[in-house]
Order: sequence, then structure tokens, then C-alpha cells
Amino acid sequence: MARVNEEFLNLKNDYLFSKIIEKTNEYKAKNTGIEVKSLGIGDVTLPLVKPVIEAMHKAVDEMSKKETFRGYGLVQGYDFLIEKIIKTEYEKIGVTLDHDEVFIAAGTKGDLAGMVELLSINNTVGLMDPVYPAYRDMNIMMGRDKIVYLKGTEENGFIPELPKEHVDIIYLCSPNNPTGIALNREQLTKWVNYARENHSIIFYDSVYEAFITNENMPHSIYEIEGAKEVAVEFRSYSKIAGFTGVRCSYTVVPKTLNAYTKDNEKISINSLWRRGQSTKFGAASYIVQRAAEAIYTEEGQKEIKENINYYKENAKYIKEELEKAGFKVYGGEDSPYIWLKVPDDMKSWEFFDKLLNEVAVVGTPGVGFGEQGEGFFRLTAFSSKEDTEIAVSRIVKLFK
Ligand code: PLP
Repeated sequence: MARVNEEFLNLKNDYLFSKIIEKTNEYKAKNTGIEVKSLGIGDVTLPLVKPVIEAMHKAVDEMSKKETFRGYGLVQGYDFLIEKIIKTEYEKIGVTLDHDEVFIAAGTKGDLAGMVELLSINNTVGLMDPVYPAYRDMNIMMGRDKIVYLKGTEENGFIPELPKEHVDIIYLCSPNNPTGIALNREQLTKWVNYARENHSIIFYDSVYEAFITNENMPHSIYEIEGAKEVAVEFRSYSKIAGFTGVRCSYTVVPKTLNAYTKDNEKISINSLWRRGQSTKFGAASYIVQRAAEAIYTEEGQKEIKENINYYKENAKYIKEELEKAGFKVYGGEDSPYIWLKVPDDMKSWEFFDKLLNEVAVVGTPGVGFGEQGEGFFRLTAFSSKEDTEIAVSRIVKLFK
């Protein structure tokens, strides 16, 4: 008899987005003449930039000829892309990385899930709350149930305090989805020092790094002294270059990062990751890696920056207009996410229903990102400028 992995049964239904879709569709069916405007999606809407399209076409042509055809790639990724990452992303901020510390992947989600498996299920996990819900689910699927929630509240500016109890694995998402708040140098230093003192590992998710506006914010955890001993950094082309459907990302696993066996023997996470990936991962596709390489050309950089700026302008607009209208609004400066405090002591879902039913605007209830998200609402900058303006004006009018 095939037995199920019962850890999976501990997952709650993917209730948040399915419920949003269900409610929105119900509304649309009843109100056919009204156009719903969504500031709820966490997906990009602008198409791929020209240099990326051209690089993909060229790579497809190469695959069509015997002389230039490529089969299985190296698990770590192609040198041409790894070199560009080290030079363009890291050297400019004073971080040096060795070639064998950067791993190309087909999206950060898969690497976040893979990394969870490298560490024992007996570890205690420190999870920001609110945060990207997949971190929690990935640990639950593994059977890891010792989770300490690191609360991000209005009082602490959504930057959690260091935990009182010991945690072995720490998830930091900066700029954070959903609060839009980024960790500054001082805050990040505290976490790095905590991890060094406690022999903990930090999983640093910075897939929204390109949205950082504030000049003093670190772009990489490796800008903090000692971070290479304690942190894995995840970066993705999804939000910065419109690759959510293309799938390409990279993960930095420093060679100085170790975890320990029961007998306190040091094990290199870099070696363990490489070994695991060579068994489980078939490498990111050649075509997709050529596409990612194209964003490092002069034209590629220019065009992706224009797209990021387009979203940033939307974020600024949402934040400023809602603030003018008297709402309490967080995030939106270093991030495409705006974290709105729900007015009149309403719950997140009540606010969702009110916006949908009274002004046909969709957002994401904050409680879907953790208990601390109750009473908040996430708006995103990924819609068109026109839709963003209409949605914001509808919200403002409703609460006038
Ligand atoms: N990390 C965070 C914080 C995200 O919000 C998302 C996607 O929304 C991901 C990771 C997934 O990124 P990718 O598309 O590279 O898998």
C-alpha cells in the first residue's frame, strides 16, 4: 500500500489567492458592466525587453544547428552568466565572489525549497511574520515544526527583534514581501552577528533588491562583515527583468558557510548543495541563461531599469495619494509593495470585501502573510499606470 507523506497534510489549503480569485470572479459574474482593477497581483505585467528577446531568438537558432546545439548544461550554470553576475551585481558593491559560489537556477522558489532539505528537521526556524508564505510551507512539508515567529509590527517598523530563544535557521526577506520594508545596514549587521554567535544560517531572500531606492540600504547581505560565514543569498530575474514566466535566478552559497553534524563536524554547505543539485536539478536551460545574460548588456541594463522605474513610479503614486487621503501606508520606497493599514479597525478580509464590492478594486489581505498581517492590506505596483491611478482614485473616493 502506498502511504502518503503525511507532512504534506499539515499544509493549509492555498487559501489566500484561490479565495481572492473566487471572490473576484463571483463579483464579475454579478456585475458585468463594471471593470475590476487589481492591485493584488505579485506578478509583473511589462513584457520582456528587446535585448532579452533577441538573445533568446539567437539561442534558439544555435540550438537548431548541429555545430552550436547544447545538451545538458552544467548544474551550476554557464560561465558566461556567472561571470556577468559576479562582475555586474557584486563587484560594484565591493563584494568578491568565487565562480563556484554562484549557482544558476530556474527560479528562486525551487532553490528555497531545496535549501530547506540540506539542514536537519530538528533545527528551529526563525520566520519573519508577515512574510512570503512559501517559507513556512516548505518547512512544514519537510516535517520541521519548530518555528519561532519573528514579529514585524507597526511598533518595530516591521523589522523583527532578535529572538529570545535560539534559532538555527533564519529567513530574512529584504525588501520584504509583503511589507515593502528593507533591512538597513545596522539591522542586518545585528542578524549577521546573531547568526555568527549562534552558529545559525541565514537564508537571505533579496529577489526585490533592484527596487531599493534608498542609497544607504545594502543590496546584498555580503556587504555586512562576516556574512559569508553565515548566509545564503537568493536573487531572481523574475521581478527585475520580467522573468516570472521565463524562470531564471541565482543563489550564492559561500564556501566559508558551514553547518554541523551531530558530532559537531563542520560540513561545507557549498559542497553539500552542489552534491544535492547534481542529483536533483537538471540545470537551467541554455536559452534562458542567454536571455539573462542579455540584461547585462548596456541596452539590457537601460531597458530593465526603465521597467523597474515604471513600477517604482506606480509605487510612489500609490503611497503618496493614499497618504494624502489620510491612510497609514508603509513600504513602497524600496519595494513594489505597499503595506496599507486597514482603516476603522476593519479586518483584512473585511477591507478586501469592501473594496471589491463597493469600488471594484482588488488587493491582498495582509493576514494571508501571517498573523501579524491582520489589519493590513498589500497593494502592488505591478499594474499599468492607468489602472493604478484608477484603482487608487476609487479607494480614495470611497473613504472620503
Ligand atoms: N521570494 C519572494 C519573497 C517572492 O515574493 C517570490 C515571488 O513572488 C519568490 C521568492 C519567487 O521567485 P521566483 O519567481 O524566482 O521563483
